[in-house]
Amino acid sequence: MSDPKDFQFNLPAEARPAAHPLREKIHGDAWAAAPDCTSARPEAPASAIRAIVIHATAGASTEGAVSVMVAHRASFHWLVADENEAAHGGFVWASAPERRAAWHVRNNCSHPDVYHGARRANDWSLGIEIVNAQSGGDKFSDWQLRATAQIVRYAWAKYPNLAHVVSHARLDPDRRTDPGRDFPWEKFAALTLAAVR
Ligand SMILES: [Zn+2]
Repeated sequence: MSDPKDFQFNLPAEARPAAHPLREKIHGDAWAAAPDCTSARPEAPASAIRAIVIHATAGASTEGAVSVMVAHRASFHWLVADENEAAHGGFVWASAPERRAAWHVRNNCSHPDVYHGARRANDWSLGIEIVNAQSGGDKFSDWQLRATAQIVRYAWAKYPNLAHVVSHARLDPDRRTDPGRDFPWEKFAALTLAAVR
């Protein structure tokens, strides 16, 4: 599977893990910007979360992704650092509070296989941004895959209605291709699902 528009797997309720720790640190600049580029969720966060959306930055650094967040009022809940950054191998950056809806998918986007084709995905999803140049030459690292899987497992344990993991491209195929053809989706899915058994 290499077309990002097809990237989706579902989280079986019977395999939901017990509480799962997440090694995260708050990114101060992103967190400070978050009130201006997130909104209140219309449903209580504990029940609201149905999906996780996987993005890649098409940029070279965590700082670049945070500057986009500040300048363009786009946002996401976590950032997964690239190989040449200090956080890589250690922890993921928390960039916006989970209880807030981050702005990472256009409101008119949807997919019939994701939460019954509902729109306004930001209200019922969490967003993960993986730092990757998407140039074709920048491979996603094993740690980036594992760290992203850890975030999904953490959220899967925490949110009882979380059922879908999808690419941004699946929800917005006309405008977006991230996380890109080079993202090893099946390996990522296997890491996420296998680790809880
Ligand atoms: Zn995206």
